[in-house]
Amino acid sequence: MEVRRGIAVAPGVAIGPALLLGSEDYRIPQRFVRADAIESEWARFQAALQAAVSEISGHEELAAARLGQQYGAIFAAHRQLVQDPKLIKEIEDLVRQKSHSAEFASSRVLRKHAKTLQDLGDRYFAERAHDLFDLEKRLLRHLLGERREELAQLTSPVVVLAHNLTPSETANLDKKFVLGFATEVGGKSSHTAILAGALELPAVVGVGSFLSEISGAETVIIDGDQGTVIVDPDEETLGSYRESEQKRKTASVRLNLLSPLPSETKDGVPIHIYGNIEFPHEVEHCVERGAEGIGLYRTEFLYLETDQEPTEEVQYEAYARVVKAFPHGPVVIRTLDLGAEKFPTSMQEIIDGTPNPTLGLRSLRLTLHNLPLFKTQLRAILRAATLGDVRIMFPLVSTLLELRQAKMILGDVIEDLDDQKVMFNPKIQVGMMVEVPSAAIMADEFAREVDFFSIGTNDLIQYTLAVDRANPAVANLYSSADPSILRMIENVVRAAEKHNRPVSVCGQMSSDPIYIPLLVGMGLRELSVTPQSILEVKQAVRNLTVVQAREILARARTLDVARDVENYLRGELKKLSPDLVE
Ligand code: PEP
Ligand code: MG
Repeated sequence: MEVRRGIAVAPGVAIGPALLLGSEDYRIPQRFVRADAIESEWARFQAALQAAVSEISGHEELAAARLGQQYGAIFAAHRQLVQDPKLIKEIEDLVRQKSHSAEFASSRVLRKHAKTLQDLGDRYFAERAHDLFDLEKRLLRHLLGERREELAQLTSPVVVLAHNLTPSETANLDKKFVLGFATEVGGKSSHTAILAGALELPAVVGVGSFLSEISGAETVIIDGDQGTVIVDPDEETLGSYRESEQKRKTASVRLNLLSPLPSETKDGVPIHIYGNIEFPHEVEHCVERGAEGIGLYRTEFLYLETDQEPTEEVQYEAYARVVKAFPHGPVVIRTLDLGAEKFPTSMQEIIDGTPNPTLGLRSLRLTLHNLPLFKTQLRAILRAATLGDVRIMFPLVSTLLELRQAKMILGDVIEDLDDQKVMFNPKIQVGMMVEVPSAAIMADEFAREVDFFSIGTNDLIQYTLAVDRANPAVANLYSSADPSILRMIENVVRAAEKHNRPVSVCGQMSSDPIYIPLLVGMGLRELSVTPQSILEVKQAVRNLTVVQAREILARARTLDVARDVENYLRGELKKLSPDLVE
């Protein structure tokens, strides 16, 4: 049994056979062959080996001719490696004596040797380990050929283990068969992590390099609460996980009782809880759990699910579905926030070669550069706004000029719809995300020009602390509890109060019950949270008085490092709602 630690990003536990995705997304099948198929399996391996050898020889000749003999020698070394009789014998033994498939046997043997080299801790040997992984990929490509299995074509339940999953790959995971996933890279509020929550799939990211030790045959436990990945669990561990699964079910039945109860503090102050969604179908979870509306609809996932830009009609249908679920509550539709890692393959070239896409042409900046795309979406939102209380929200606003430009485009679209006599709501409310430090600092000025604010702590933390939200190497610096973040939020709340504008928090921070007393203490009365955390947040609200919340805020303000604030808040939540703290 092997236990790996990562970052817990979506709660729950998944237990199942590993589906291993290499960096080229090959699934390495766990496959044994029948006794009468062993000869043909071995022949298949030899054919793949031959193909790999002649491919490498081709590279060898080309490199020698173009760059010189010493470069050709790199490939000669690869060729010798893959033809090493000892290596081939090991693979043959697994095929002949253990009935392993050619893919499975090759992978096992090459990975075992690569791991041994990696463990030597020497740079030279680490490079040789890379060569072995490269050979593995090459052999698998020849073995699997056209039979490369896509994540979309699964037929039995699996736990996905991958180096990385892009947001669009995650969006396309088939929940019928994928029980949970773990990735080597990624951070707490990366979009892949957010999507795991949306799909309600237990997930752990940022595990660090561990795939080389796995062959795809093992049973794996993904513990999305503790952030652990357990490979080949022993019976005792499996048993205890099954037991806690039972406890979880009981706890969720208890939490479900809160659905119909109002979200208000002990002293009767309403705290409106809305849902954050990425896909229209999630509204059902929000309704079930008693959300009062949708505080953040991340519409970019309409773009990430397919390679084609969704038409106005497709968008209208998606928005209409959401509004119909909440005919009375607000539905805040955020305009496209594509960019950084959230890109459909068809638009990938926009960021290819950009050294720092998070600071580049993303989000509102991108839509302002692509007016047809922006206008199509605005038309669909304005039309859907005839069905209920739909509001528009612009993401990643960093300057007043940018906001004014976006509002001007909206004005143009309104004129067009008017001229074309299309039904729409001209009185739609227009708000903005406050997620760039410049906007938080200038909140007073912005508040004059929008109808509402929604604080996006995920990006606000990333940009304030200069910490990539998806990078596990700096995950220890990424914290909602950093005093700089708390001050920024308070500044925004004060500006909103001064101008009588509603303000909510829609970043992951408000989905974590430990921050509820703090946010309520600051004066927040609207929270937009992941569907999975609606009931926990409601419980935290209902166990709190506004006086207590203000006291907790006052004490937190005196602490000057994130870790102390976090520990203090956890301790307070334990007193107020013990069952929300493990
Ligand atoms: C945020 O940045 O806090 C936010 C809600 O937006 P996203 O996570 O989609 O960037
Ligand atoms: Mg954001």
